[in-house]
Formats: sequence, C-alpha cells, structure tokens
Amino acid sequence: ISKDDVFLKEIPKVGFSDIGGLEDVKEEIRKAIIYPFTHKELYQMYGQKAGEGILLYGPPGCGKTMMAKAAAKECGADFISVKTSSIVSKWVGASEKNVKQVFDIARGEERSIIFFDEIDSIAARRSESEDYAKRVVNELLAQMDGVDTASDNLLVLAATNEPWAIDPALRRPGRFSKLVFVPEPDLEAREAILKIHLKKRPLDDNVDIRHLAELTDSYSGADLAAICKEAADIPLGEALRGGEARNIGLQDFKMVLEKRKPSIVSWYI
Ligand code: ATP
Repeated sequence: ISKDDVFLKEIPKVGFSDIGGLEDVKEEIRKAIIYPFTHKELYQMYGQKAGEGILLYGPPGCGKTMMAKAAAKECGADFISVKTSSIVSKWVGASEKNVKQVFDIARGEERSIIFFDEIDSIAARRSESEDYAKRVVNELLAQMDGVDTASDNLLVLAATNEPWAIDPALRRPGRFSKLVFVPEPDLEAREAILKIHLKKRPLDDNVDIRHLAELTDSYSGADLAAICKEAADIPLGEALRGGEARNIGLQDFKMVLEKRKPSIVSWYI
C-alpha cells in the first residue's frame, strides 16, 4: 500500500487570502500557530508555551482543511496531511508504527504542520473503539506528548465534524487543548467566498455577487465552490456545442441553485 493514500506531504499553495470570511478564525490561528513560529523569541521571553495542538471543528465543507493548509503556508511550514480514516483501514497491523513515522518525517523538516483530517474516525472514546484504534490513539498521544515545539518546529492540527465523539484524553493540555470553531459562512463570508471562486470567470452584468450571497443562505463553502463551477459549465457546454462563448449569467446560477440544495442545514440539529 502506498503511503500516499494515507498521508501526503506538500508545500501548500493556498493562503489566508484564498479563504473567504472566517476572519476571527484566521486571527485565532495567527495567535496560536503563526506568531509562535514567526516571533519565537518573544513567546520564549514571556514564558508563553506555544504549539499546543488545535482541533478545528464545524459543519462539513466550511474550510477546516483549507484553514490548516493556509496556516502552514502562512508560516512557511510543510503541510503533512493524514487521511485519518485510512490509517485504520489501510495500515492495519502497522498503524502505530506509521503514526510514529509521520511524526519522524515532520521532525526532519525545518518547519511542519501535521494535519489529521476526520480525527473522529480514530479518536472516538477509547472505551467504545476497537483495539487497533485504541493503539493508534495511544501512539498519537505519546507522539504529541513528546513534541517539543521549541526544538521540533512542529505543530499538530486536526479536524472533525463531530467534536463530541473525540476521546477526552486527546483534549488534555499539550494535546488538542485548543478548540476552534469553523462556522458556516454568513452573508459577508458567502460574498467573499463567491468572489474568490468567480474571480477568474467571465460574468454577465446581470450577476450581482451580493445578491448571489443572499440567495445562498445555509450553503457551505464547498457548496458555493461547486455552484460556481456548475454555473460556468452551462455556457461552457453551449460553447463546446458550437454556440457563442457567452458570459455566465444570473439565469445559470438560478438553474444550478434549483438543483443543488444547501448541505449543512442538518448539522446543528
Ligand atoms: P470536511 O469537513 O468535509 O472535510 P472542510 O471543512 O475541511 O470539510 P474544506 O475541505 O476546507 O472543508 O473545503 C472544501 C472546499 O470548499 C475547498 O477546497 C474550497 O474550494 C471550498 N471552500 C470551503 N470553505 C471555503 C472558504 N471559506 N473560502 C473559499 N473556499 C472555501
């Protein structure tokens, strides 16, 4: 089994400016992650311990992964993302060893951020989870406890849609002690997200992005990205069939919105 299926090391390209809205979250991340890297001496001088793990939580598709990646980019760190759900399915037998390996790779880099996506898939309360999942969680805890952020230049982030399902041991000091909520986008944020995803597409004069933002209450960032893509597909398809290459119009967005319903309505219930 290729390691690439389970973890991926990359130099991230998305930064904070590619993320619409979430200004409060960006500021929290700056304080918790970026300043400790960029102003290390100041943190040391005031005896502030930096580098506790951060757990990002919130409804699906609202930018948790993007935020983790952008955090790495903003502080010039390598981004090592671990598909947590694959750890158990693909690494059975060697899971703990591989968790250690991910941390070893990260320690070998000048700066890095390890990101565990869908951490709930292994970090369910240990009493309720199976043996191998318990061993993986224990290894993760041991590795996190062993991180000396001052010398390791390593931070750990994780994301979940189900913060209540996380083993409380993971929330202790020095581990994922900081919880950051990544909310669904409000009107302003939806406008910002739509602007980002429409920046490079030709728009008709009848498209008012603010109005589109008003029409998309309860749509996630991922929904909005998909809407932009699908709306662009309509004139693209026409042009491919020999029509003129017209701009994307309001009618295209309306057509897409009729079919695509908001995906996060049920998360809060
Ligand atoms: P999940 O919980 O399903 O893993 P997530 O919260 O990690 O979701 P992302 O993977 O970060 O969500 O977002 C999915 C896609 O949606 C992004 O690649 C991006 O195209 C778009 N998107 C989501 N939120 C934003 C945002 N705030 N600004 C711009 N694009 C966004």
